[in-house]
Amino acid sequence: MNNMLQTVVSSGTGTNARIPGIPTGGKTGTSEDNRDCWFCGFTPMYSSAVWMGYDAKNNMRNQYGGGYPAKLVKSMLQKAHENKKSPTWSKPKDIVQISVCSKSGKLPASTCGEGDIITEFSVKKYIPNEYCAQHQTVVICKESGKLAGKYCPETEVRTYVTTDDKSSDPNKIPTETCDIHTEFTIPGLFKNTVWVCRDPRHQGKLYRANVPGSTQTGGCPAEYLEEILLPPGQNLPTCPLAEHQLKRNRAGEIVDMLDR
Ligand SMILES: [Zn+2]
Ligand SMILES: [Zn+2]
Ligand SMILES: [Zn+2]
Repeated sequence: MNNMLQTVVSSGTGTNARIPGIPTGGKTGTSEDNRDCWFCGFTPMYSSAVWMGYDAKNNMRNQYGGGYPAKLVKSMLQKAHENKKSPTWSKPKDIVQISVCSKSGKLPASTCGEGDIITEFSVKKYIPNEYCAQHQTVVICKESGKLAGKYCPETEVRTYVTTDDKSSDPNKIPTETCDIHTEFTIPGLFKNTVWVCRDPRHQGKLYRANVPGSTQTGGCPAEYLEEILLPPGQNLPTCPLAEHQLKRNRAGEIVDMLDR
């Protein structure tokens, strides 16, 4: 709260109350029809509030809390601090500064872009314990900008934000599959499609899925499997989740024994 109120004075509607060398916080206020306006300001040592208005129900034109009230609060606080050591605020012990993803409000995952990671204050017990799952890596068609289909000649791996349908986020995850390249057009061109594991614990990062062969069981659960087109030269790590690993089934063991 203190930090928010300091922002009002450092770069918000209350910059008129800024006192050089003294940390100051504050908030402006204006009532209906501009009948009252006020500013409440505070430093680590003092607080001050100035209200401006008429006793009768008159309104004031072009007056607002960040104007004269903020200026007056500044002069009073400045006077009060004269010849005093510059004070500082102490931060409560259970408040910490953490990095979070601004899109999800959760801890940054490896898929969150640099620009989406912000520093915030948090009460220790409210530090998010989950990682962002809103940034997702997908393969898109370079030409249509939509999700790549298996005939798209040029694709690109990109990170998007999953949002609700109404969001206008420019990095919103595409929902449609490319409608330009719907047919196989270049004969003989090898298409590199792979299955990836979409387990939420991967936080949107692409992992090649463990798909059981005829003599195996286990592997990544079918509900997390997704077939994607991989750009040439792109390699993916294999899903490392312990319970997604492949096991040899009994028939496999027998075949194995016969082989020996
Ligand atoms: Zn994120
Ligand atoms: Zn395409
Ligand atoms: Zn998996």
